[in-house]
Amino acid sequence: MPECPKCQKEVYFAERKTSIGKDWHPGCLKCGKCGKTLTPGSHSEHEGTPYCTKPCGTSGEKANYEK
Ligand SMILES: [Zn+2]
Ligand SMILES: [Zn+2]
Repeated sequence: MPECPKCQKEVYFAERKTSIGKDWHPGCLKCGKCGKTLTPGSHSEHEGTPYCTKPCGTSGEKANYEK
């Protein structure tokens, strides 16, 4: 069972949101700065913390999901 990187609790397959190579609860995949709920695959990240692309993501930063 994967662990949510935000709250360290187990994420069930039915509810998981996979982004930047991790499995998140729907309510835990939020911008680390402004708290906005994020869509998997369409946000930025920095050192494992998700951020919204605008306005919190900094330009030139590459998110892992683009690999
Ligand atoms: Zn969580
Ligand atoms: Zn943000």
